[in-house]
Amino acid sequence: MSAKKHIAILGSTGSIGTQALDVIKSNSDKFAVEVLTAMNSCDLLIEQAREFQPNVVVIGNENLYDQVFEALDPLDIKVYAGVSALSNVVQMDSIDIVLTALVGYAGLKPTISAIESGKNIALANKETLVVAGELITRLASEKGVNIYPVDSEHSAIFQCLVGEFHNPIEKIILTASGGPFRGRSKEELIAVKKEQALKHPNWDMGAKITIDSASLMNKGLEVIEAKWLFNLKMDQIEVVVHPQSIIHSMVQFEDGSIKAQMGLPDMKLPIQFALTYPERLKSDFPRFNFMDYPELTFEQPDFKTFRNLGLAFDAMKQGGNMPCVLNAANEVAVEKFLKDEIGFLQMSDLIEDCMAKASFVKVPTYEDYVLSDNETRNLAKAYKN
Ligand code: MG
Repeated sequence: MSAKKHIAILGSTGSIGTQALDVIKSNSDKFAVEVLTAMNSCDLLIEQAREFQPNVVVIGNENLYDQVFEALDPLDIKVYAGVSALSNVVQMDSIDIVLTALVGYAGLKPTISAIESGKNIALANKETLVVAGELITRLASEKGVNIYPVDSEHSAIFQCLVGEFHNPIEKIILTASGGPFRGRSKEELIAVKKEQALKHPNWDMGAKITIDSASLMNKGLEVIEAKWLFNLKMDQIEVVVHPQSIIHSMVQFEDGSIKAQMGLPDMKLPIQFALTYPERLKSDFPRFNFMDYPELTFEQPDFKTFRNLGLAFDAMKQGGNMPCVLNAANEVAVEKFLKDEIGFLQMSDLIEDCMAKASFVKVPTYEDYVLSDNETRNLAKAYKN
């Protein structure tokens, strides 16, 4: 690889964004940062911009524009404000790849815009494929755009598929850590608080995804994400709980052979692979040692206690805009749980209620997704237990 890859990072101040910048810093001969964006964390955004010298910075919250502008104007870095600016900057000619590390539905529009202008995507924002997987994958294939998964499970599957692209997949096995509440009964979860849910045993991540991991919604979203990324049917996707998070996921081929991708839980590896595929860069990430893990264990997911996983399978089965409804309801449910407005188990009640009440659209357009997201958020906000 001679020329540097020019990268736009949407959501550079979050967990994935900061780790991506670590990867870039360690490989500054391979990468250049073209765009950095943040919603509210303007101090960190300014610090990152001073260090990485991008061409453009976007601050989502328009009230923070002056602050960012004044800090970066002397450095000849262009500053824009507002969420709509994201969709414009991703189209810049100088960008080779867009890393979408925004949280939730907010990632949809800029991702569409990047694909429309032919940019390859390193996808960390799984909600984009959950909401509009059909539209996104169709558009990507029309534009000849590659979507490289950053999510560790999907990166694992992608890594297992290298050299196998003409061999049909029999099924994939997505591994799940089970989160902090693995093995707990419903009764034990009634009164759990956000502080407990925010303590993930293996991964250090943002608040939204950590709550999703505790409720198994994260795995549900990942099932839908996998369906679209790898063009699978529902019965080709299996979820297995693997508490050590060493096997990141597996692919079973038609001859019965299973390939697994393994390593210590560290998001830098899938981030780096998404940015360098098909190359593997030498890294100093900590190495896995089998002798430290004499036992790797596996169990069935508990669909009865963690109802979100089943709701995600239901939404995928119904198709149309139902995964969009599931996602919007879940985003509001997580917000409400983080504000102590609803209990842990009530998140599933709220989502189920929204799925029953929201208007169903069999073949949604982009506008239908926008309407459906909005309708569902209103239903979810009005939800009373
Ligand atoms: Mg994951």
